[in-house]
Amino acid sequence: MSAWRTESCEQCGAAFYVREDWDRPPRYCKSCREERAAKWYDKSCRHCGGTLRVCVDWDRIPDYHKECAWTEKPCEICGYGIRIHRGWNNPPRRHKECRASVAPKTVSCAQCGKLFTISTGTQLKCKENGWDLPTRCQECKHDALLIKGAVGALRDTFRVPLETTIEKRGILFTDKVAVVRNARTGDVLAEVTMSKEGCFSTKRVAVATDARSGDEIARTRDGHEGNFVQRRTAETCSSATGDQTHTTRMAEQGVFVRKRLAKTERASHGEDSVISRVVKRGWFFVKKVIETDRE
Ligand SMILES: [Zn+2]
Ligand SMILES: [Zn+2]
Ligand SMILES: [Zn+2]
Ligand SMILES: [Zn+2]
Repeated sequence: MSAWRTESCEQCGAAFYVREDWDRPPRYCKSCREERAAKWYDKSCRHCGGTLRVCVDWDRIPDYHKECAWTEKPCEICGYGIRIHRGWNNPPRRHKECRASVAPKTVSCAQCGKLFTISTGTQLKCKENGWDLPTRCQECKHDALLIKGAVGALRDTFRVPLETTIEKRGILFTDKVAVVRNARTGDVLAEVTMSKEGCFSTKRVAVATDARSGDEIARTRDGHEGNFVQRRTAETCSSATGDQTHTTRMAEQGVFVRKRLAKTERASHGEDSVISRVVKRGWFFVKKVIETDRE
């Protein structure tokens, strides 16, 4: 028979008996032991449903086993796994570094020089489709059809194939100007500049001027057509008469490689329509040129 000795409870300090031959003598008195035991309970793991033993004193009561809590999901950008805790309400869909790589970017517009922002959504869409990031601001993108419409109508004024480049003008306040040349001789025939019209809701308008006389030739404004699906068009009116002379629409051409181009048609039908397409020129310094000629 081994002897009893007293120990003091680690929780309340009261003395209690332990036998000397016990390998692991209790650290608490009986009442503290019971109180502590009552604090433990079982719950089921929200992932595997197995038993999870938890204590009310814990700062955070887990919902999962340690080995059940973490999972991996592919990152939306790079496709590699992201460690995700099953308990997170809004688990991340992208790695931190990947997210930073598509943070909104502010760049200067290749045409007008104004700063514009490329959103994360746009960057992701470009990545997904293998497209280049936009180089032009929203306004320049909107102006493109008006400029092509204005140049398409000029083909009937000058009666030669045209070549147009969009250039920046001014040092402090840059503005773009479309310089229209005779495609054969390179002579500058006309200029198209962007302006605004209207008192309450201003609208952008492309104004074509004769390079030699400085006279305004025509104005090209936004138009729409179609009943169910509205399509944007560009409507050109003669500055001399005010009458609408041409309508320009975007179209696609080509069977294997679809190319976007602008098609300008006379209001009074007759002869072929005029096609304006953007082509790249040059090997070292690639420049975009709008070629305009009869179909
Ligand atoms: Zn105690
Ligand atoms: Zn589990
Ligand atoms: Zn990633
Ligand atoms: Zn721009």
